[in-house]
Amino acid sequence: MPAHILVAGGGIGGLATALALSSSRGRHRVDVFEQAAVFGEIGAGVQLGPNATRRLQQLDLSPGLAAIAAKPEALVVHSAGSGAVLARLPLGDAMQQCYGAPYFCVHRADLHALLLDAVRARGTGTLVTGARLELVETSDDLVCVSSADARAWEGEALVGADGLWSLVRQQMDTPSAAEPPRVTGHTAWRALARQSDLPAALRRQQVDVWLGPQLHAVAYPVRGGEWLNVVVIAESAPAGDARDWDQTSSIAALQQATGRSGIALQALLEAMPGWRAWTLSDRAPVASAADMAHERVALVGDAAHPMVPYLAQGAGMAIEDAVALADALADAGAADVPHAFARYAQARWQRNAQVQARARRNGEVFHATGAVRLARDLAMRTLGARLLDQPWLYGG
Ligand SMILES: Cc1cc2nc3c(=O)[nH]c(=O)nc-3n(C[C@H](O)[C@H](O)[C@H](O)COP(=O)(O)OP(=O)(O)OC[C@H]3O[C@@H](n4cnc5c(N)ncnc54)[C@H](O)[C@@H]3O)c2cc1C
Repeated sequence: MPAHILVAGGGIGGLATALALSSSRGRHRVDVFEQAAVFGEIGAGVQLGPNATRRLQQLDLSPGLAAIAAKPEALVVHSAGSGAVLARLPLGDAMQQCYGAPYFCVHRADLHALLLDAVRARGTGTLVTGARLELVETSDDLVCVSSADARAWEGEALVGADGLWSLVRQQMDTPSAAEPPRVTGHTAWRALARQSDLPAALRRQQVDVWLGPQLHAVAYPVRGGEWLNVVVIAESAPAGDARDWDQTSSIAALQQATGRSGIALQALLEAMPGWRAWTLSDRAPVASAADMAHERVALVGDAAHPMVPYLAQGAGMAIEDAVALADALADAGAADVPHAFARYAQARWQRNAQVQARARRNGEVFHATGAVRLARDLAMRTLGARLLDQPWLYGG
Protein backbone atom coordinates (compact mmCIF):
# COMPACT_ATOMS: atom_id res chain seq x y z
CA MET A 1 0.00 0.00 0.00
CA PRO A 2 1.51 3.39 -0.99
CA ALA A 3 1.67 5.93 1.83
CA HIS A 4 -0.23 9.22 2.06
CA ILE A 5 2.47 11.86 2.59
CA LEU A 6 1.97 15.50 3.58
CA VAL A 7 4.63 18.02 2.52
CA ALA A 8 4.81 21.33 4.40
CA GLY A 9 6.16 24.06 2.11
CA GLY A 10 6.04 24.42 -1.67
CA GLY A 11 9.47 25.91 -2.37
CA ILE A 12 12.18 24.21 -4.43
CA GLY A 13 12.71 21.58 -1.71
CA GLY A 14 9.02 20.81 -1.18
CA LEU A 15 8.18 20.54 -4.87
CA ALA A 16 11.29 18.45 -5.64
CA THR A 17 10.22 16.13 -2.81
CA ALA A 18 6.65 15.87 -4.10
CA LEU A 19 7.93 15.13 -7.61
CA ALA A 20 10.49 12.55 -6.48
CA LEU A 21 7.98 10.77 -4.23
CA SER A 22 5.30 10.61 -6.90
CA SER A 23 7.83 9.47 -9.54
CA SER A 24 9.36 6.70 -7.45
CA ARG A 25 8.28 3.05 -7.44
CA GLY A 26 6.25 3.81 -4.31
CA ARG A 27 3.66 5.88 -6.25
CA HIS A 28 2.74 7.55 -2.97
CA ARG A 29 -0.05 10.08 -2.66
CA VAL A 30 1.61 13.42 -1.89
CA ASP A 31 -0.23 16.58 -0.81
CA VAL A 32 1.72 19.87 -0.64
CA PHE A 33 0.74 22.75 1.69
CA GLU A 34 2.10 26.22 0.94
CA GLN A 35 1.45 29.26 3.11
CA ALA A 36 1.55 31.77 0.23
CA ALA A 37 -1.62 32.52 -1.70
CA VAL A 38 0.03 31.33 -4.93
CA PHE A 39 3.02 29.09 -5.58
CA GLY A 40 6.02 31.17 -6.61
CA GLU A 41 9.62 32.19 -6.06
CA ILE A 42 11.46 35.49 -5.75
CA GLY A 43 13.45 37.05 -8.59
CA ALA A 44 16.98 35.76 -8.10
CA GLY A 45 19.37 33.23 -9.57
CA VAL A 46 20.47 29.78 -8.44
CA GLN A 47 23.60 27.95 -9.51
CA LEU A 48 23.14 24.20 -9.91
CA GLY A 49 26.24 22.03 -9.77
CA PRO A 50 26.35 18.65 -11.57
CA ASN A 51 25.29 16.94 -8.33
CA ALA A 52 21.97 18.83 -8.51
CA THR A 53 21.43 18.68 -12.28
CA ARG A 54 22.09 14.91 -12.25
CA ARG A 55 19.19 14.49 -9.80
CA LEU A 56 16.93 16.76 -11.85
CA GLN A 57 17.73 14.58 -14.87
CA GLN A 58 16.69 11.52 -12.83
CA LEU A 59 13.37 13.27 -12.28
CA ASP A 60 12.90 13.47 -16.09
CA LEU A 61 13.41 17.23 -16.18
CA SER A 62 16.33 17.32 -18.68
CA PRO A 63 14.56 19.00 -21.63
CA GLY A 64 12.74 21.55 -19.46
CA LEU A 65 15.86 22.33 -17.50
CA ALA A 66 17.97 22.83 -20.63
CA ALA A 67 15.30 25.23 -21.96
CA ILE A 68 15.44 27.56 -18.92
CA ALA A 69 19.12 27.29 -17.96
CA ALA A 70 22.24 29.20 -18.87
CA LYS A 71 25.31 26.99 -19.31
CA PRO A 72 28.23 29.17 -18.16
CA GLU A 73 31.58 28.62 -19.87
CA ALA A 74 33.75 29.06 -16.80
CA LEU A 75 34.02 30.18 -13.19
CA VAL A 76 36.46 33.10 -12.98
CA VAL A 77 37.65 34.48 -9.62
CA HIS A 78 38.92 38.08 -9.48
CA SER A 79 40.32 40.45 -6.89
CA ALA A 80 37.53 42.93 -6.08
CA GLY A 81 39.98 45.82 -5.88
CA SER A 82 42.14 45.40 -9.00
CA GLY A 83 39.85 43.13 -11.01
CA ALA A 84 42.87 40.86 -11.67
CA VAL A 85 42.04 37.21 -12.38
CA LEU A 86 43.12 34.95 -9.50
CA ALA A 87 41.86 31.58 -10.78
CA ARG A 88 39.69 30.00 -13.50
CA LEU A 89 37.72 26.74 -13.64
CA PRO A 90 36.27 25.62 -16.99
CA LEU A 91 32.58 24.69 -16.61
CA GLY A 92 30.58 24.09 -19.85
CA ASP A 93 31.61 20.86 -21.59
CA ALA A 94 34.35 20.21 -19.02
CA MET A 95 31.81 19.66 -16.20
CA GLN A 96 29.65 17.45 -18.41
CA GLN A 97 32.66 15.30 -19.32
CA CYS A 98 34.03 15.10 -15.80
CA TYR A 99 30.81 14.60 -13.83
CA GLY A 100 28.34 13.34 -16.45
CA ALA A 101 25.96 16.26 -15.85
CA PRO A 102 26.05 20.00 -16.62
CA TYR A 103 26.74 23.06 -14.46
CA PHE A 104 23.68 25.29 -14.94
CA CYS A 105 22.55 28.71 -13.73
CA VAL A 106 18.80 29.30 -13.55
CA HIS A 107 16.28 31.88 -12.40
CA ARG A 108 14.64 30.60 -9.21
CA ALA A 109 11.14 31.27 -10.56
CA ASP A 110 11.91 29.25 -13.73
CA LEU A 111 13.17 26.25 -11.75
CA HIS A 112 10.21 26.50 -9.39
CA ALA A 113 7.74 26.64 -12.31
CA LEU A 114 9.42 23.63 -13.95
CA LEU A 115 9.01 21.59 -10.75
CA LEU A 116 5.44 22.79 -10.21
CA ASP A 117 4.37 21.86 -13.77
CA ALA A 118 5.93 18.40 -13.36
CA VAL A 119 4.18 17.82 -10.01
CA ARG A 120 0.85 18.91 -11.53
CA ALA A 121 1.40 16.63 -14.53
CA ARG A 122 1.91 13.63 -12.23
CA GLY A 123 -1.38 14.45 -10.54
CA THR A 124 -0.76 12.14 -7.59
CA GLY A 125 -1.95 14.51 -4.88
CA THR A 126 -3.34 17.95 -4.17
CA LEU A 127 -1.53 21.29 -4.03
CA VAL A 128 -3.00 23.52 -1.36
CA THR A 129 -2.11 27.23 -1.22
CA GLY A 130 -2.95 29.73 1.52
CA ALA A 131 -2.31 27.00 4.10
CA ARG A 132 0.04 28.27 6.80
CA LEU A 133 0.62 25.21 8.96
CA GLU A 134 0.77 25.93 12.68
CA LEU A 135 0.40 22.66 14.53
CA VAL A 136 1.76 19.14 14.03
CA GLU A 137 0.31 16.21 15.99
CA THR A 138 1.56 12.64 15.65
CA SER A 139 0.36 9.21 16.76
CA ASP A 140 1.81 5.75 16.08
CA ASP A 141 0.15 5.55 12.66
CA LEU A 142 -0.78 9.07 11.62
CA VAL A 143 0.34 12.68 11.38
CA CYS A 144 -2.14 15.54 11.56
CA VAL A 145 -1.33 19.13 10.55
CA SER A 146 -3.55 22.14 11.06
CA SER A 147 -3.42 25.61 9.60
CA ALA A 148 -3.72 29.09 11.03
CA ASP A 149 -7.32 29.25 9.75
CA ALA A 150 -8.29 26.05 11.61
CA ARG A 151 -8.30 23.58 8.72
CA ALA A 152 -6.71 20.16 9.34
CA TRP A 153 -5.28 17.36 7.21
CA GLU A 154 -4.20 13.82 8.07
CA GLY A 155 -1.62 11.54 6.48
CA GLU A 156 0.78 8.74 7.31
CA ALA A 157 3.94 10.85 7.05
CA LEU A 158 4.97 14.51 7.12
CA VAL A 159 7.91 16.09 5.30
CA GLY A 160 8.92 19.52 6.62
CA ALA A 161 10.13 21.51 3.59
CA ASP A 162 9.16 24.80 5.17
CA GLY A 163 12.52 26.51 5.02
CA LEU A 164 14.82 28.34 7.42
CA TRP A 165 12.19 29.19 10.06
CA SER A 166 10.57 25.74 9.83
CA LEU A 167 7.46 25.24 11.97
CA VAL A 168 7.69 21.47 11.48
CA ARG A 169 11.25 21.44 12.83
CA GLN A 170 10.21 23.43 15.92
CA GLN A 171 7.56 20.85 16.74
CA MET A 172 9.72 17.76 16.19
CA ASP A 173 11.07 15.65 18.99
CA THR A 174 14.74 16.14 17.95
CA PRO A 175 17.82 17.38 19.83
CA SER A 176 17.99 20.84 18.21
CA ALA A 177 14.29 21.51 17.55
CA ALA A 178 13.99 24.48 19.90
CA GLU A 179 17.12 26.35 18.75
CA PRO A 180 16.42 29.31 16.45
CA PRO A 181 18.57 29.90 13.33
CA ARG A 182 21.72 32.04 13.68
CA VAL A 183 21.43 35.48 12.10
CA THR A 184 24.91 35.79 10.57
CA GLY A 185 25.39 39.55 10.37
CA HIS A 186 25.96 39.13 6.62
CA THR A 187 23.62 40.70 4.06
CA ALA A 188 23.12 39.77 0.40
CA TRP A 189 22.16 42.45 -2.13
CA ARG A 190 20.93 41.15 -5.45
CA ALA A 191 19.79 42.52 -8.79
CA LEU A 192 18.68 41.10 -12.14
CA ALA A 193 18.86 42.74 -15.57
CA ARG A 194 18.31 41.82 -19.20
CA GLN A 195 21.79 41.49 -20.71
CA SER A 196 20.62 43.47 -23.76
CA ASP A 197 19.89 46.44 -21.44
CA LEU A 198 23.50 46.47 -20.19
CA PRO A 199 26.52 47.99 -21.99
CA ALA A 200 28.18 45.29 -24.13
CA ALA A 201 31.30 45.27 -21.93
CA LEU A 202 29.26 44.23 -18.89
CA ARG A 203 27.41 41.31 -20.48
CA ARG A 204 28.73 37.85 -19.64
CA GLN A 205 28.19 34.12 -20.14
CA GLN A 206 30.38 32.92 -17.29
CA VAL A 207 30.26 32.93 -13.49
CA ASP A 208 32.42 35.81 -12.20
CA VAL A 209 33.34 36.03 -8.53
CA TRP A 210 35.11 39.03 -6.95
CA LEU A 211 36.78 38.62 -3.54
CA GLY A 212 37.33 41.66 -1.30
CA PRO A 213 37.91 42.32 2.40
CA GLN A 214 34.75 41.22 4.26
CA LEU A 215 32.73 40.97 1.04
CA HIS A 216 32.39 39.13 -2.22
CA ALA A 217 30.28 39.51 -5.34
CA VAL A 218 29.01 36.98 -7.89
CA ALA A 219 27.55 37.55 -11.37
CA TYR A 220 26.17 34.88 -13.68
CA PRO A 221 23.74 34.49 -16.61
CA VAL A 222 20.26 32.98 -16.21
CA ARG A 223 17.25 32.42 -18.52
CA GLY A 224 19.19 30.86 -21.38
CA GLY A 225 21.86 33.52 -20.92
CA GLU A 226 19.50 36.42 -21.68
CA TRP A 227 19.47 37.82 -18.12
CA LEU A 228 22.27 38.56 -15.67
CA ASN A 229 22.02 37.88 -11.92
CA VAL A 230 24.35 39.84 -9.60
CA VAL A 231 24.75 39.27 -5.85
CA VAL A 232 26.98 41.17 -3.42
CA ILE A 233 27.42 39.71 0.06
CA ALA A 234 29.01 41.79 2.80
CA GLU A 235 29.63 41.45 6.51
CA SER A 236 27.17 44.13 7.34
CA ALA A 237 24.28 44.41 9.77
CA PRO A 238 20.91 43.15 8.51
CA ALA A 239 19.11 45.72 6.46
CA GLY A 240 15.72 44.88 8.01
CA ASP A 241 13.61 41.96 9.28
CA ALA A 242 15.78 38.80 9.26
CA ARG A 243 12.75 36.81 8.05
CA ASP A 244 12.21 39.01 4.99
CA TRP A 245 13.92 37.53 1.95
CA ASP A 246 12.98 40.38 -0.28
CA GLN A 247 13.70 43.81 1.21
CA THR A 248 13.68 46.87 -1.05
CA SER A 249 17.19 48.35 -1.25
CA SER A 250 19.37 50.50 -3.50
CA ILE A 251 22.89 50.90 -4.84
CA ALA A 252 23.30 53.74 -2.31
CA ALA A 253 22.46 51.44 0.63
CA LEU A 254 24.79 48.80 -0.78
CA GLN A 255 27.68 51.27 -1.18
CA GLN A 256 27.08 52.70 2.27
CA ALA A 257 27.62 49.22 3.73
CA THR A 258 30.50 48.12 1.48
CA GLY A 259 32.21 51.26 0.17
CA ARG A 260 33.11 51.53 -3.50
CA SER A 261 34.64 48.55 -5.29
CA GLY A 262 37.37 48.43 -7.95
CA ILE A 263 36.56 50.01 -11.34
CA ALA A 264 35.31 46.88 -13.17
CA LEU A 265 33.02 45.64 -10.39
CA GLN A 266 31.83 49.16 -9.60
CA ALA A 267 30.75 49.70 -13.22
CA LEU A 268 28.68 46.50 -13.13
CA LEU A 269 27.03 47.33 -9.81
CA GLU A 270 26.08 50.83 -10.98
CA ALA A 271 24.55 49.47 -14.19
CA MET A 272 22.23 47.04 -12.37
CA PRO A 273 18.66 48.19 -11.61
CA GLY A 274 16.34 47.30 -8.72
CA TRP A 275 18.53 46.17 -5.84
CA ARG A 276 16.90 43.95 -3.19
CA ALA A 277 18.44 42.90 0.15
CA TRP A 278 18.36 39.57 1.95
CA THR A 279 19.57 38.98 5.52
CA LEU A 280 21.56 35.74 5.78
CA SER A 281 20.96 33.17 8.52
CA ASP A 282 22.15 29.60 8.95
CA ARG A 283 22.47 26.83 11.50
CA ALA A 284 25.41 24.85 12.84
CA PRO A 285 26.05 21.74 10.72
CA VAL A 286 23.62 18.87 11.29
CA ALA A 287 24.99 16.88 14.25
CA SER A 288 23.27 13.50 13.79
CA ALA A 289 20.63 11.63 11.80
CA ALA A 290 18.19 12.41 14.63
CA ASP A 291 18.22 16.06 13.52
CA MET A 292 16.67 15.13 10.15
CA ALA A 293 13.92 12.65 10.98
CA HIS A 294 11.91 11.29 13.88
CA GLU A 295 9.25 8.58 13.58
CA ARG A 296 6.80 9.78 10.86
CA VAL A 297 8.28 13.26 10.36
CA ALA A 298 11.33 14.10 8.20
CA LEU A 299 12.96 17.38 7.17
CA VAL A 300 14.41 18.40 3.77
CA GLY A 301 16.26 21.47 2.50
CA ASP A 302 16.63 24.62 4.58
CA ALA A 303 14.27 23.27 7.25
CA ALA A 304 16.91 20.64 8.00
CA HIS A 305 20.21 22.34 7.18
CA PRO A 306 20.11 26.04 6.26
CA MET A 307 23.51 27.28 5.16
CA VAL A 308 25.24 30.45 4.05
CA PRO A 309 25.26 30.56 0.23
CA TYR A 310 29.08 30.52 -0.13
CA LEU A 311 29.17 27.12 -1.80
CA ALA A 312 25.98 27.79 -3.85
CA GLN A 313 24.47 24.47 -2.71
CA GLY A 314 21.42 25.11 -0.47
CA ALA A 315 18.95 24.32 -3.24
CA GLY A 316 21.27 21.58 -4.50
CA MET A 317 21.15 19.84 -1.12
CA ALA A 318 17.34 20.22 -1.01
CA ILE A 319 17.15 18.46 -4.40
CA GLU A 320 19.56 15.74 -3.22
CA ASP A 321 17.40 15.27 -0.08
CA ALA A 322 14.27 14.92 -2.21
CA VAL A 323 15.71 12.12 -4.34
CA ALA A 324 17.19 10.34 -1.30
CA LEU A 325 13.86 10.51 0.53
CA ALA A 326 12.04 9.00 -2.44
CA ASP A 327 14.67 6.24 -2.68
CA ALA A 328 14.23 5.42 1.01
CA LEU A 329 10.43 5.25 0.58
CA ALA A 330 10.44 3.49 -2.79
CA ASP A 331 9.37 0.10 -1.50
CA ALA A 332 7.85 1.30 1.77
CA GLY A 333 4.18 1.21 2.66
CA ALA A 334 2.52 3.26 5.37
CA ALA A 335 3.66 0.92 8.14
CA ASP A 336 7.34 1.20 7.07
CA VAL A 337 7.52 5.02 7.11
CA PRO A 338 9.49 5.38 10.39
CA HIS A 339 12.17 2.93 9.22
CA ALA A 340 12.33 4.50 5.77
CA PHE A 341 12.71 8.00 7.25
CA ALA A 342 15.46 6.73 9.56
CA ARG A 343 17.29 5.30 6.52
CA TYR A 344 16.89 8.61 4.70
CA ALA A 345 18.30 10.62 7.62
CA GLN A 346 21.20 8.20 7.99
CA ALA A 347 22.01 8.49 4.28
CA ARG A 348 21.89 12.32 4.23
CA TRP A 349 23.03 13.91 7.48
CA GLN A 350 26.79 13.69 7.04
CA ARG A 351 26.79 15.06 3.49
CA ASN A 352 24.57 17.95 4.51
CA ALA A 353 26.78 18.66 7.53
CA GLN A 354 29.89 18.63 5.33
CA VAL A 355 28.35 21.08 2.87
CA GLN A 356 27.16 23.41 5.67
CA ALA A 357 30.62 23.42 7.25
CA ARG A 358 32.35 24.00 3.93
CA ALA A 359 30.01 26.88 3.11
CA ARG A 360 30.92 28.60 6.39
CA ARG A 361 34.63 28.04 5.76
CA ASN A 362 34.34 29.45 2.24
CA GLY A 363 32.92 32.64 3.81
CA GLU A 364 36.06 33.02 5.92
CA VAL A 365 38.28 32.44 2.89
CA PHE A 366 36.27 34.68 0.52
CA HIS A 367 36.15 37.59 2.99
CA ALA A 368 39.73 37.26 4.35
CA THR A 369 41.82 40.31 5.18
CA GLY A 370 45.55 40.90 5.77
CA ALA A 371 48.04 38.01 5.58
CA VAL A 372 45.32 35.36 5.12
CA ARG A 373 44.06 37.22 2.07
CA LEU A 374 47.56 37.36 0.56
CA ALA A 375 48.04 33.62 1.17
CA ARG A 376 44.62 32.91 -0.37
CA ASP A 377 45.41 34.92 -3.50
CA LEU A 378 48.78 33.17 -3.88
CA ALA A 379 47.12 29.75 -3.51
CA MET A 380 44.48 30.70 -6.09
CA ARG A 381 47.09 31.90 -8.58
CA THR A 382 49.23 28.80 -8.07
CA LEU A 383 46.60 26.06 -7.88
CA GLY A 384 43.85 27.62 -10.05
CA ALA A 385 41.29 25.06 -11.20
CA ARG A 386 42.58 22.45 -8.75
CA LEU A 387 41.48 24.70 -5.89
CA LEU A 388 38.11 25.61 -7.41
CA ASP A 389 36.96 22.17 -8.53
CA GLN A 390 34.99 20.18 -5.92
CA PRO A 391 34.98 16.48 -6.93
CA TRP A 392 33.66 15.40 -3.48
CA LEU A 393 30.65 17.66 -4.04
CA TYR A 394 29.93 17.56 -7.77
CA GLY A 395 30.64 13.83 -8.08
CA GLY A 396 28.33 12.93 -5.16
C1 LIG B 1 21.75 35.04 -1.56
C2 LIG B 1 21.51 33.57 -1.72
C3 LIG B 1 22.00 32.91 -2.85
C4 LIG B 1 21.80 31.54 -2.99
N1 LIG B 1 22.32 30.91 -4.08
C5 LIG B 1 22.19 29.57 -4.20
C6 LIG B 1 22.76 28.89 -5.33
O1 LIG B 1 23.37 29.51 -6.22
N2 LIG B 1 22.60 27.54 -5.41
C7 LIG B 1 21.91 26.82 -4.46
O2 LIG B 1 21.80 25.59 -4.60
N3 LIG B 1 21.36 27.44 -3.39
C8 LIG B 1 21.47 28.79 -3.24
N4 LIG B 1 20.92 29.41 -2.16
C9 LIG B 1 20.19 28.61 -1.16
C10 LIG B 1 18.77 28.30 -1.60
O3 LIG B 1 18.11 29.49 -1.94
C11 LIG B 1 17.99 27.61 -0.49
O4 LIG B 1 18.79 26.63 0.14
C12 LIG B 1 16.73 26.94 -1.03
O5 LIG B 1 15.88 27.91 -1.61
C13 LIG B 1 15.98 26.19 0.06
O6 LIG B 1 14.77 25.69 -0.45
P1 LIG B 1 13.65 25.12 0.53
O7 LIG B 1 12.55 24.68 -0.34
O8 LIG B 1 14.27 24.16 1.48
O9 LIG B 1 13.20 26.37 1.42
P2 LIG B 1 12.44 27.69 0.97
O10 LIG B 1 12.88 28.14 -0.37
O11 LIG B 1 12.58 28.63 2.12
O12 LIG B 1 10.91 27.24 0.83
C14 LIG B 1 10.11 27.03 1.97
C15 LIG B 1 8.64 27.13 1.55
O13 LIG B 1 7.82 26.80 2.66
C16 LIG B 1 6.80 27.76 2.81
N5 LIG B 1 6.45 27.76 4.24
C17 LIG B 1 7.19 28.23 5.27
N6 LIG B 1 6.55 28.06 6.44
C18 LIG B 1 5.37 27.45 6.15
C19 LIG B 1 4.27 26.99 6.94
N7 LIG B 1 4.28 27.11 8.27
N8 LIG B 1 3.22 26.41 6.32
C20 LIG B 1 3.20 26.26 4.96
N9 LIG B 1 4.23 26.70 4.15
C21 LIG B 1 5.30 27.27 4.75
C22 LIG B 1 7.43 29.05 2.32
O14 LIG B 1 6.45 30.00 1.94
C23 LIG B 1 8.24 28.56 1.12
O15 LIG B 1 7.49 28.48 -0.06
C24 LIG B 1 21.08 30.80 -2.00
C25 LIG B 1 20.57 31.46 -0.90
C26 LIG B 1 20.78 32.82 -0.74
C27 LIG B 1 20.25 33.50 0.48
